[in-house]
Amino acid sequence: MKASRVRIQGISKRFGDLEVLRRIDLDIEPGKLVCLLGPSGCGKSTLLRILAGFEPPTEGTVSIGGRDVTTFPSKKRDIAMVFQNFALYPHMSVESNIAAPLVMSRLSFLRRQPLFRFFSPSAQKIRREIRERVVETASLLQIDKLLKRKPAQLSGGQKQRVAIGRAIIREPLLFLMDEPLSSLDAGLRTQMRGEIAALQKRLGITTIFVTHDQTEAMTMADQVVVMSGGVILQSGSPREIFEDPAHLSVAKFLGSPS
Ligand code: ADP
Ligand code: MG
Repeated sequence: MKASRVRIQGISKRFGDLEVLRRIDLDIEPGKLVCLLGPSGCGKSTLLRILAGFEPPTEGTVSIGGRDVTTFPSKKRDIAMVFQNFALYPHMSVESNIAAPLVMSRLSFLRRQPLFRFFSPSAQKIRREIRERVVETASLLQIDKLLKRKPAQLSGGQKQRVAIGRAIIREPLLFLMDEPLSSLDAGLRTQMRGEIAALQKRLGITTIFVTHDQTEAMTMADQVVVMSGGVILQSGSPREIFEDPAHLSVAKFLGSPS
């Protein structure tokens, strides 16, 4: 699996008069799981959306895998994102949901071809490869028995796994998750925390995980980035941050009930 370095330099973001991010610098080593931790409204989602290319920064640059992607549209960035509400296609099976990104990229060239080509041996071979890939990904996430179901027939945790499967099947350079566990109940949240961290280690995709939950960040991350009011207060391993909070507001934030 590919793993890429991510470099954020001097990122600022203003919405009119509102300065949401102020000169954010952040370096992420290839293959690491980084948690962006901070209270609601501190700019975490905005930073993630800038990385994903959904939102242009007012200033600064983003590079992924050594390429400056600041002006690249989202599609060209080779990133995958999982949202809080999972955003699965409701009318499609689990299998088709997971396969969708591959089908779109690998079979799209056939759309412009005459119909007979669509049933050609090469198209069938691609479909077979996609199917194998989906089964492999689904097994990894332990949802290979659910491939024929529709999203409405799944539990919250199963939906979450489908969303992750769909995100990682293309082997993105960067995997972004914005508060992916916040709609799950407490027990499942604890379980998924461990599963996502273990999966991330197995795949080795550079991953940024946004949360306002300190326990989540401290138990999952290789690197915790503590944000407040549009700036980074501290960045380090969970142990470094816990044992030596660099800033009174980090200590207060870590000490507060989540
Ligand atoms: P977080 O994810 O940490 O809760 P956000 O990045 O969503 O924070 O938001 C940070 C601040 O930016 C908030 O004050 C929010 O209201 C504001 N904001 C976010 N997106 C927009 C937008 N498109 N237009 C105006 N203000 C926005
Ligand atoms: Mg947010």
